[in-house]
Amino acid sequence: MAENKVQTAKYEKKLKVKKNDVVMVIAGKEKGKSGKVLRVLKKKDRVIVEKLNMVKRHLRPGRYSQEGGILEREAPIHVSNVMLLCPKCTKPTRVGYKFLDDGKKVRTCKKCGEVIEG
Ligand SMILES: [Zn+2]
Repeated sequence: MAENKVQTAKYEKKLKVKKNDVVMVIAGKEKGKSGKVLRVLKKKDRVIVEKLNMVKRHLRPGRYSQEGGILEREAPIHVSNVMLLCPKCTKPTRVGYKFLDDGKKVRTCKKCGEVIEG
């Protein structure tokens, strides 16, 4: 019996969004805004997007500083709430994949079909 390679292949979890991608938020309070991905939290399926989803953290005096205070930083956004902004057609798009002639797997824009670098 020939085994079906597709079914037995190990499923490798891979996020479609990468660091330095520009994404648009499609749900939540930051809906419609876009920014650059600073970090990808693979295990949590979340990304940190520059200047988006900012949260204030109140610091108690003593632990991090003498004064205490408020620190603003980006909170992670779930990848299902962002879409990649295609650098070629500048539209939010789903990501496709294709293989180049040399066997390299690249991401493509489902809207315009262009290869997305990175
Ligand atoms: Zn495109």
